[in-house]
Amino acid sequence: MSFQPPKGTDDIIAPQSQAWRKTLRLWDDWSERYGYPLVNLPIFEATELFERGVGETSEVVTKQMYTFADQGGRSVTLRPEGTASVVRAYLNSGHQGVWKGAYSGPFFRYERPQAGRRRQFWQVGVEYLATPSPLADVEVIELGYRFITATELPDVALLINSIGDQVCRPRYVAALKEYLREHESRLSAESMSLIERNPLRVLDSKVDGPELIEAPRTLDYLCEECAQHFTSVKEGLESLGVPYKEDSSLVRGLDYYTRTAFEYVATGLDAAQNAVGGGGRYDGLAEAIGGRPTPGVGFALGIDRIMLALGELQLPHLDVYLVSETGPLDALRVASNLRDEGISVDFDVDGRSVKAQFRTARRLEVPVILVWKGEGQPLDVQTEGERATLPLREVSTWFNSR
Ligand code: AMP
Repeated sequence: MSFQPPKGTDDIIAPQSQAWRKTLRLWDDWSERYGYPLVNLPIFEATELFERGVGETSEVVTKQMYTFADQGGRSVTLRPEGTASVVRAYLNSGHQGVWKGAYSGPFFRYERPQAGRRRQFWQVGVEYLATPSPLADVEVIELGYRFITATELPDVALLINSIGDQVCRPRYVAALKEYLREHESRLSAESMSLIERNPLRVLDSKVDGPELIEAPRTLDYLCEECAQHFTSVKEGLESLGVPYKEDSSLVRGLDYYTRTAFEYVATGLDAAQNAVGGGGRYDGLAEAIGGRPTPGVGFALGIDRIMLALGELQLPHLDVYLVSETGPLDALRVASNLRDEGISVDFDVDGRSVKAQFRTARRLEVPVILVWKGEGQPLDVQTEGERATLPLREVSTWFNSR
């Protein structure tokens, strides 16, 4: 049999995986700082949740879901996104009032695989539920921006727009339809078929979207409340020093999306895969899946794309390689001692020669090699450009002071 992973999936292993670990730790740290507790939700859900919660006309639902009947004959789907599940879990919890949650894990879409577009990919995200406040939008957008910046991704741009609500959007949609009908001859067959069903998705189209810069802009049609909301979001971002650009082509094609839409773009990546994350307000989603009205705002970021934009980062996953001159049993005990002090250590369990142990240490590119010479003797410490000897009990102090 072949040892390749299934098409569109990846084996993420050392040395690349350490950069993933670092990025996911950063995520845990930043989402916790902003007060988002962890939500761990099922990897598969009833298919109906996504049909209703992502939208039956969306490309994700029509073309990209991994759907199958389980042994009990229920139609289930591997989660293609996180928001619908989080809102379902909130409704199921019976909680009343403001609620926050952060998630991190694999998601699945049947895509045409390419770099940054995988069939299994990793998303992290947050949802801030049961508040219509524009400050919730600001907090969410800021968190995403700060986290991406903390990953040291260069050249990230934040794009924002407002797509109005059920009060003002109908007027906008009517104007957009009229414009699209007038320019039908310039559109692809797929876009033409969307004009009546879901004209906002035409603006979102990779093929036709860029051609439609003259199309009516959502911002020109906002009602008083939506305009005020958008102004508050922008003022909030400005007060926090989060730079943004308005982008009127940023839309969401479904009715339950309201007001704020935003995207984080890595300008160093190819245009087709340069969105490292996006989000927005979805005040109608809870009702769309049969729940009580619950406003919400959130985002999802694609970790595969962030890693791609960061480039081939190969970080050592060990602080120390322990070479033992007195055999593996001593190394086991010394390593345990160091691990207890919070230092990540590995050693050879096979009793190979000292020379072979050094070879392994160099192959792993560990920053520090410690050489155990025997009971009562200090250890040799070898780092780039530095050699010293230290008694075992002083190793962790030395280590922490580096
Ligand atoms: P979406 O739910 O489509 O708005 O996706 C949010 C983010 O997840 C995107 O901006 C991408 O960074 C990432 N993403 C979505 N689909 C994929 C995929 N098939 N492969 C890799 N990353 C993806």
